[in-house]
Amino acid sequence: MHRFFVAPSALQHQTVTLTGPQAHQIAVVLRLRPGERIVVLDNSGWQYLVELQTVTPQRVVGRICERSLATTEPRVKLTLYQGLIRAPKFELVLQKCTEIGVVAFVPVLCARSLVTSADETRPAKFERWQRIIAEAAEQSGRGKLPVLHPVTTFGQACRQARGLALLAHERAPARPLRTVLQTVERPFAVSLFIGPEGGFAPEEVAQAQDYGIVPVALGPRILRAETAAIVATALVLYTLGDMDEPSHGG
Ligand code: SAM
Repeated sequence: MHRFFVAPSALQHQTVTLTGPQAHQIAVVLRLRPGERIVVLDNSGWQYLVELQTVTPQRVVGRICERSLATTEPRVKLTLYQGLIRAPKFELVLQKCTEIGVVAFVPVLCARSLVTSADETRPAKFERWQRIIAEAAEQSGRGKLPVLHPVTTFGQACRQARGLALLAHERAPARPLRTVLQTVERPFAVSLFIGPEGGFAPEEVAQAQDYGIVPVALGPRILRAETAAIVATALVLYTLGDMDEPSHGG
């Protein structure tokens, strides 16, 4: 069943209206016809089973047949603080970590980031990143769209980190991720820091520790930044029991 995130204003009474690229996708790419069904989400946590009534490349109108709560959102709210890395790698992180269950992304300007914040704050790039997240969320059956925050400095990121805060680091003083997760109560929120291609500077590791952020190791092999983000996200959600339930469909 194809899924589409829409603005709440697209839903009026028992009807939903999709326009722009979504109408084009439904009519031209997917070639759906009146009578076929899609799932529409308004990012509130509810999802709507919709029967298509009118399908044109400009405008698709459907009738809401059923409303249910999306059951796929992780209980542990994981925010990924990703050190700025080159765009293709960052986009891979956005896509894969949305599929796995990250609820928010914060791009972080680090001492060893090879890209500058000016490169990364262009509106077109931000919009592209939001599209990547939305497509990954639709494809993977997420109930809510992960939030993409603006680029922030490392210091601001440390101040805003919530819940159990972890910083992936490949050497001392990092302790194994599993050991750290086994010694804490299941947190409501996790803030996970992953470094840029050049890793975190020692001053950044020390600064993070001052804020109570715990350095964690992902094993003896050095992973590329994008691999580390994907692996660490999966390991945290797996260890905290958020990858146990099968999908209920919908
Ligand atoms: N240039 C660094 C070096 O050679 O030591 C490697 C940095 S690594 C490519 C990029 C980021 O991935 C690191 O800052 C860290 O957050 C994460 N990372 C990669 N391998 C890791 C490991 N084995 N344990 C913990 N974090 C790791």
